[in-house]
Amino acid sequence: LNKPKIVVLGAGYAGLTTTKRLLQKLSPEQAEIVLVNKHNYHYESTWLHEVAAGTINPNQARVMISDVINPNKVRLVYDSVVKINKDEQRVVLENSEIEYDYLVVGLGFESNDFGIKGMAEHAFAIEDIDSSRLISEHIEYQFAKYNNEENVEDESLHILVGGAGFTGIEFVGELADRVPELCKKYDIDRNRVKIINVEAAPSILPMFDKELVAYAKKSLEDRGVEIKIGAAISECTEEGFIVGDDKELIKAGTVVWTGGVKGSSVLGNSGFELTKGKVNVDADLRMKGEENIFVIGDCSWVWNKEADRPYPPTGQLAMQEADVVAANLAALLTNQPLTDFVFHDKGTVASLGISDGIGNIFNDYKLQGKAAAAMKKVVDNRSLFLMGGTKLVLKKGKFRPF
Ligand code: FAD
Repeated sequence: LNKPKIVVLGAGYAGLTTTKRLLQKLSPEQAEIVLVNKHNYHYESTWLHEVAAGTINPNQARVMISDVINPNKVRLVYDSVVKINKDEQRVVLENSEIEYDYLVVGLGFESNDFGIKGMAEHAFAIEDIDSSRLISEHIEYQFAKYNNEENVEDESLHILVGGAGFTGIEFVGELADRVPELCKKYDIDRNRVKIINVEAAPSILPMFDKELVAYAKKSLEDRGVEIKIGAAISECTEEGFIVGDDKELIKAGTVVWTGGVKGSSVLGNSGFELTKGKVNVDADLRMKGEENIFVIGDCSWVWNKEADRPYPPTGQLAMQEADVVAANLAALLTNQPLTDFVFHDKGTVASLGISDGIGNIFNDYKLQGKAAAAMKKVVDNRSLFLMGGTKLVLKKGKFRPF
């Protein structure tokens, strides 16, 4: 008898956690498990702002999948998903095709420029290891060439960041620490460098309360970040952003857009019905109207009944969804009832650089400064622990004193 085949797409927080849980719940006789991922490594998406700023080495943020998933128990396929053909229960990859009985889609996020003219062409985006490393190398190149070429404009040293949500603010926080190091390395006066954050909304970090937001804003400004709120970007050109009603051009040698994300473009390419770039799922995390397709992490919207809106996409949410998906797959294979997903919010901590941060944990306990930065490192190391145990924490963990 053929075993049912479970195919998991994406080895991010959602896909990798699902695969690990499936291994715990199912015996090899119960199902064949296949994990498909673009690269042979998993990366910690929540650390990408540090890779982009150059405050950590890209290798620290990535983990070989075969180090955390036993390749004798799961078929590991390193290839890019192009399209899902749900009528034929087939996934089209760049180099092959795979059939499935059950599918878990965890292909994560892509940058969303909301159609702002020129953004896709001229701005960098923090999307994965490669795109983040490119940003840090580009910034370093601007510094390296500054004293080596004639007629270099000061603006080439400026770093312009669109969006003051989680990613944008965590990124400028890292830059505030990185820029003085680069100035020292390349003999450049710190006053020549600008870090500018531009946000259309009236506040930064809308998910935190006013007191913590005020703390974050002051901390960043004290360390030389210029924050322009209520400033909508109408266009991105080769030179920088065009901002506000008076169409001010803010020039910079490095321009990064962090203002929004949407689900993987594979969803649209597969003809799935999308709401704001993601799939709506039922409470059991299956795609609406589908018996055998689960969509989780940044690819789906899960409705929060209490708040009457979807849960915001986070790594924490993706990992909790993965637990329920694995349980529900096991239930489907044994004809048991499926479980509805319930989110247990453990709080949120945003870093503002290596030794500063803000956080809201355990039902509204507020943290700021070094305590928040320390908590962030605990959260990051815990994520490693869940992926690969103590060994991985010792290898890749964050222990740098501050
Ligand atoms: P991802 O982690 O993006 O994983 C997707 C996986 O799919 C990747 O391995 C990718 O390589 C693979 N993939 C993508 N496309 C294809 C394809 N076509 N074919 C094959 N493989 C593919 N959340 C928090 O909870 N706390 C935080 O502090 C926090 N900080 C963040 C900081 C930054 C800078 C960013 C960018 C995000 C942050 N988030 C945070 C959000 C969090 O990272 C995401 O919500 C989370 O990564 C979603 O997990 P996922 O598994 O859905 O997707």
